[in-house]
Amino acid sequence: MEFDLSKLVRENIKGLLPYSSARGEFGGDAEIFLDANENAFGSPLSADYSRYPDPLQTLIKGKLANAVGVSAANIFVGNGSDEAIDLLIRIFCRPGIDNILICPPTYGMYEVSANINDIKVKRADLCLDYELDLESIGNTIDEATKLIFLCSPNNPTGNSLKRNSILKIAELFCGIVIVDEAYVHFSERESLIPEIKTHPNIVVLQTFSKAWGLAGLRVGKAFANAPVIDLMNRVKPPYNVSHIAQKMILEAFENRSVVEARIAEIVKMRGELAGSLAELSFVDTVYPSEANFLLVKMTNPNKIYDLLLIENIVVRNRSTITLCEGCLRITIGTPDENATLIKALRKYEKGFVH
Ligand SMILES: *Cc1c(COP(=O)(O)O)cnc(C)c1O
Repeated sequence: MEFDLSKLVRENIKGLLPYSSARGEFGGDAEIFLDANENAFGSPLSADYSRYPDPLQTLIKGKLANAVGVSAANIFVGNGSDEAIDLLIRIFCRPGIDNILICPPTYGMYEVSANINDIKVKRADLCLDYELDLESIGNTIDEATKLIFLCSPNNPTGNSLKRNSILKIAELFCGIVIVDEAYVHFSERESLIPEIKTHPNIVVLQTFSKAWGLAGLRVGKAFANAPVIDLMNRVKPPYNVSHIAQKMILEAFENRSVVEARIAEIVKMRGELAGSLAELSFVDTVYPSEANFLLVKMTNPNKIYDLLLIENIVVRNRSTITLCEGCLRITIGTPDENATLIKALRKYEKGFVH
């Protein structure tokens, strides 16, 4: 079967007349704007936020298009990549009828978003080496499977998925393949964004929350063929990214060298922290990571999790998750934070030995 976008989209979305916002209808320059029921007297703040923001984030898309080498029509900007995940589910999946496929262990939002929308979740677990199980994926999808979510580098395992496996899935599957690259900036691998030119069913998600250090602004991005992006724009709330978030993102683009330097530093410390963790007697495996965290298998993860809390350090307990038995997920911190973590773990190690 061939990929056919118009067959894949829900009927109600295909015929949707989107909300026409004031700023969407008239985006030009004028002196007096009396079209959006804003407050012409301004904000009770030192800066003015009285006007609605650009609904299509034109300036940000211009910067991204330049940086990434695609056109603005290939870019969606949203309230975190979580908004893109939810939109894709709502555009393509009929509640109570369709399903999505995920490859556990992976990011939790795909399943939560599906559950909220009454969409069934099918699972094809990763192999023991955390690579995709192509055979299991092929056996698990059915004609109601609309979306396959792949996360690369994967959260919480930290590894990138094989590019060829992802492309093979995109070529054989006639639904949408979403490649979540939230951590790609910490990896040596190339992004799959260039593949959207030859694969009309690939959507690549990235975010400003991790490598860019802007999680609090809530800005994520999706890259895909223009018709898919157009659907996302039609379904999203008209003003989904606030004025202040857009302004701060543009400012961050001016400081890209800081971002690059911090990525390099985090990658370096990832190696150092992995080394220190591996030396601890109770640590069984520090999995190779291409992200800004380490998945660490150990004896007694729950006890260590609690001990770290007493030391005022909180990590993520993943020990009950499929294929992550015994594992904690630890984000790379500052050099001081990493040193404090290792000190706390050595303290535990001594108490444990005696
Ligand atoms: C952190 C993370 C995101 C980011 O979500 P935002 O809504 O953009 O903050 C997306 N995907 C994965 C796998 C993540 O770990």
